[in-house]
Amino acid sequence: MQTRGYAALSAEAPLAAFQFERRTPGRRDVQIAIEFCGICHSDIHTVRNEWGMTTFPCVPGHEIIGRVVRIGDDVKKVKLGQRVAVGCFVNSCRTCESCKGGHENYCETGFTMTYGSLDRDGKTTFGGYSNQIVVDEHFVLTVPENLDPAGAAPLLCAGITTYSPLRHVGVTKGSRVAVMGLGGLGHMAVKLAASFGAEVTMLSRSPGKKIDAQRLGAHEFVLTSGEGALAPLANRYDAIVDTISAKHDINGPLGCLKRDGTLILVGASPQALDLSPFPLIFGRRKVMGSLVGGIPETQEMLDHCGAHGITSDIELTTPDGINQAYERTLKGDVKYRFVIDCAKF
Ligand code: NAP
Ligand code: ZN
Ligand code: ZN
Repeated sequence: MQTRGYAALSAEAPLAAFQFERRTPGRRDVQIAIEFCGICHSDIHTVRNEWGMTTFPCVPGHEIIGRVVRIGDDVKKVKLGQRVAVGCFVNSCRTCESCKGGHENYCETGFTMTYGSLDRDGKTTFGGYSNQIVVDEHFVLTVPENLDPAGAAPLLCAGITTYSPLRHVGVTKGSRVAVMGLGGLGHMAVKLAASFGAEVTMLSRSPGKKIDAQRLGAHEFVLTSGEGALAPLANRYDAIVDTISAKHDINGPLGCLKRDGTLILVGASPQALDLSPFPLIFGRRKVMGSLVGGIPETQEMLDHCGAHGITSDIELTTPDGINQAYERTLKGDVKYRFVIDCAKF
């Protein structure tokens, strides 16, 4: 099926209009008319080949919301016309321990990413910066109808990437959580941790974000740029969610954890970070990474957001606004996620 989207043809080129084919839906496939797709910082890392693994042409986009327009004969999970979503991956082996446990995001043979992976037909997958997509029903989520669809799109990456590790480390009422970096992921980490009943501190280098942090649910805002800014926070937090997209210090923040506390790294700096053993040894503290979330947990997150009325704070843009949206995201000049109006492709 002829599909319209936007692609980068090389790491140096701006994104531009691009037409390509999608497969005709098979028996277990769902065809989705995409309404909205979020712009994740991972799209920017990928398009600019900062992680060194991009296949071009690259049609990014893994925060996808739309309506079901066609289903294969064996599809049971969704109905025609239903509002659905697709996140960061569209296939996995389904037989390894991780897949069988609903942790398809940790598939031991590697999952098929929504964009930039080799699909089962031997072609590269193309993502949500487009007007339609065809996905196996297992990887399609259902979206609570009470949520604004444009605001719900970023839940598919920014939402689940912060929800999953917060749940994994047991954040609950009364937990103390700090969030580093108030961007797409960071603002969802604040909203979600607050919705679990945690006491949340925002750690940001941007003084202009203080009022927003409080509006989003943070109880405290600490500017990290000043010398000694973290000293008063020593031994305070059960967990810190680090969403920073570039190289930065993690040894100072580690000292802000309580004994046995966990620094959750979700920001994916292309440059390696420096880790001193001492803040880990003194306090038996931990550093963990986390990659989006599995299909059952992504559905659980969407249902949680439906029940609590949680969506992303977004600025809507159009396909011809994508390149400018990238520049503004890099400057931290968006509150707090760009979402593309995909009906305009
Ligand atoms: P974003 O909207 O650009 O937000 C990143 C925030 O980090 C900025 O708003 C800024 O917050 C802070 N920051 C950026 N550069 C910094 C620097 N040099 N030093 C200190 N702080 C800096 O990005 P995002 O979409 O939230 O993504 C964040 C990172 O997570 C990216 O690396 C992305 O690839 C990664 N990611 C990982 C996963 C996963 O599964 N693990 C999923 C999605 C995204 P302040 O101004 O408040 O300091
Ligand atoms: Zn993402
Ligand atoms: Zn697997």
